[in-house]
Formats: sequence, C-alpha cells, structure tokens
Amino acid sequence: MARATRGLAAVLAAILAVLMLPPFLAAGAAAADDAEVAAYRRAVEQRFAQWLEALWPDAQAAGISRATFDANLNGLKLNWSLPQLVLPDPAAPGGPRLPQSLAQAMAPKHQPEFDAPVLYFPEGTLTALSATGRAKITELGPTLVAIQKKYGVPASILVAIWGRETGFGKIDAPYDAIGAIATQGFMGRRPDEFRKQLIVALKIVQEGHATRAQLKSSWAGAMGYTQFMPTDFENYAVDFDGDGKRDIWNSIADSLASTANSLKAQGWDGSKTWGYEVKLPQGFDCTLQGLDKERPISEWMKLGVARVRDQAFPQNALADPAFLVLPAGLKGPAFLATDNFSVLKLYNNSDVYAIFVGHVADMIATNASAKFVGAWQPVERLPRDRIQRFQEVLVAQGHDVGKVDGLAGFKTRAAIGLTEKRLDLPLTCYPSQRLVDAVMKEASVTRP
Ligand code: CA
Repeated sequence: MARATRGLAAVLAAILAVLMLPPFLAAGAAAADDAEVAAYRRAVEQRFAQWLEALWPDAQAAGISRATFDANLNGLKLNWSLPQLVLPDPAAPGGPRLPQSLAQAMAPKHQPEFDAPVLYFPEGTLTALSATGRAKITELGPTLVAIQKKYGVPASILVAIWGRETGFGKIDAPYDAIGAIATQGFMGRRPDEFRKQLIVALKIVQEGHATRAQLKSSWAGAMGYTQFMPTDFENYAVDFDGDGKRDIWNSIADSLASTANSLKAQGWDGSKTWGYEVKLPQGFDCTLQGLDKERPISEWMKLGVARVRDQAFPQNALADPAFLVLPAGLKGPAFLATDNFSVLKLYNNSDVYAIFVGHVADMIATNASAKFVGAWQPVERLPRDRIQRFQEVLVAQGHDVGKVDGLAGFKTRAAIGLTEKRLDLPLTCYPSQRLVDAVMKEASVTRP
C-alpha cells in the first residue's frame, strides 16, 4: 500500500508541476483528488469483499473448510501495490469512475521480456549466476546427483532456474501470497487463472504445508526457491530430504527436486540438451523460425545451419527435431532449440527466459563463455501498444501472429519476415519503425 501511495504522490506532484498551478490551487486540487481516489478505492474494496464471498461454493467443492475460508479471506484487502493490475472502471456498476490520477499512477510497469532482447542477458549477471551455480553444485553434492539421477534433469539446469528465479533464495518474496493472488484474481490480467490459484493456495494452508505467515510470494503469486505457483505445488512438489514435508519454502533439496519433477512430468527428455547457439548462412530465410517449422537437426544442417565455434552437433542428436529461435530476428544470435526448450518455456513463457536458463546451465556445466557468438545489433524500441495495433493489421492481412499482445513472439517475427519480403524491405524478422509505418499506412490506419 505504501508503495502505491508514494507512486501516486509522485505522479500528482509531476502533474501539478507541469500545470504550474499557483500553490493554493494546487493544494486544493490534490485534496479533491485524494478524496476522489479514496472514494473509488472504498467502492472497489467493497466489491472485492463480495467477490471473495462468491468464491465459497467453488472453495467448498475443492474441500476447503469454512473455518479455513474465513480465517484467510475475511477482511482481506486488495494489494494495490502490485504491478499490472487492471483497475475496474467504474468501481462497481453505477459506482465511482476510476480517477485519472490513479489510472496514471498504476499504469502497467515494464517487464524485462518486453525490452530489447539483449537487455535480458547482461554478461555480469550471467557470469555471477554461473559462478555461484557451480559453487552450489559442489556444496549440494550428492543431493543434486540423486535428484539428477531420479528425474533426468541436469543439476546445471536446476541450479540455473534457482539462480534466475530467486538469486539462489536471496531475493525475498515480499508479498502475502493469498493477498497477492486474490488481488490478481479480482483485478489482474488473468483473473480465471488466479481465481483457481487462490483456491489451491487455501488448500496448501489448510493441509498445513505452510502457515499463512510462511506463504509469501512474488507479485504474481510465485513461491519458494524456484517460484512455484500453488498449482505447481499441488501437482509437482515432492519431499526429497525425507522429513515428511514438501517444503519448497525452506528446503533446497525439496525445491530443486520439485522443479526437476515438474520438468520431467511436463516432458523433459534427459537424453537431450535444451538447444544450441548456431550460425546461419548469409541471406538465411528467417521466416523458418518457430515451433511450427520444427525439423530434424540433420535437415537444418542441409540448410547450412551450423553450431558456433566449429563444434559439431552430437552424432546421436542428428535425428532429433529442433526449431529455430531468433529472439532478435536476424539482428541477434540464433539458436536451434529442442523440445526441452519448450518444457523450459512452461516455467516462464518467453524465448529469452528459456535461452537464459539454458545458457547459464551451459556456462555452469561446460564453462561456456557468457558472450554469445552472434552479436546483438541495435534494435528500435517500439511501444507495446503500437506493436499490438500492428499485429491487428497483420491478422487482418491474413497472418498468424500468435497472441495479439504487443510482443514480438516467433509467429509475429515470422509474419514480419513475410511482410518484409512482400514489401521488398531488408529481411530482419524483427519489428522496425519503417516496417510498422509502411504496414499501418497500407491499412490506412492513422498514427496516433
Ligand atoms: Ca522435505
């Protein structure tokens, strides 16, 4: 709550500074604004209380007792400090409208996945994580060996996930998980998903796996050393240290084994790696990227795709299916990804996340360099809403862009390549101002 209030105060101050109102007027405007915001919040909280009560039939059906339900949800307040909330407007049917000042103060925060891909891979971070990761493997010794043996997931991958998710447990999970998850369920971007997570979180407390006070999470409800959602806990958590508890909050052995169990259950193949950095021949057709263009590694070799640093693909992997991943189109490193890459993306649905984890794991296991061989060339940064409108036009033109979400995922990047070919623009498979302008002009959509 304090964070949101500070953010709001800062935005109000900025607005007033821009308007350069005389001080007495500015103070009056701020007071009126505060009252408006307070009335709006009260109305939203009231509606939230009704929303919580309406959960009861589903909670009961899931085996939650009324005592657990009341103890955890009665009087629960929204956590307004969470990022990426979708504030109701009006607060309730016929209720107060969303005040402009609050809407601005709570505008979605930036997420790393939306930035230029290179920003996701600072060499210092990669180097530090892999060094600590190696030390952790030594420290945990036989436990990690046993986990790897049982689930077929390399220790280097597990340690890379642990490092990426929580910096090896050093990053505090600052939020009350039930408060954060309930807030996301009521006014987050994926309400149905979080409504389901909330019921499972209640179950975790009821079954005594963690107390309410121990149930801390990230803003998105992820818990423990490797950031499990409540349903991940329900489906995949295991007791590996043998104390009879599945403890992803305090036991590293339980956490890493639970992570290995989740990857294995979702298809991790212990005989394969996650992927390879590759070199593409000059003038390579970047529209061949993406899961739907998967083909055996031997076929990629026939197209001239080779591993970097003159390494050979393992002989026993040549028949394995692989797909091309170009996070920055032809303006950055290229990767051939195996089906294990798709399993990593179930953890966090982002190409750069899966590359990050795989790359750190390679650095841990083989002392690979932090630097990719392919250079990240400068890319233009376009606002997400502009990319989203551009995607809408591409869809209207008959392209499959995947989710219309303002992100340049592989389907959008491939559609960009096809469009660059059609318009006779240099082939990059990455959004540029020039291409977006050309396509928007074609569609007679005026620039805002
Ligand atoms: Ca345990």
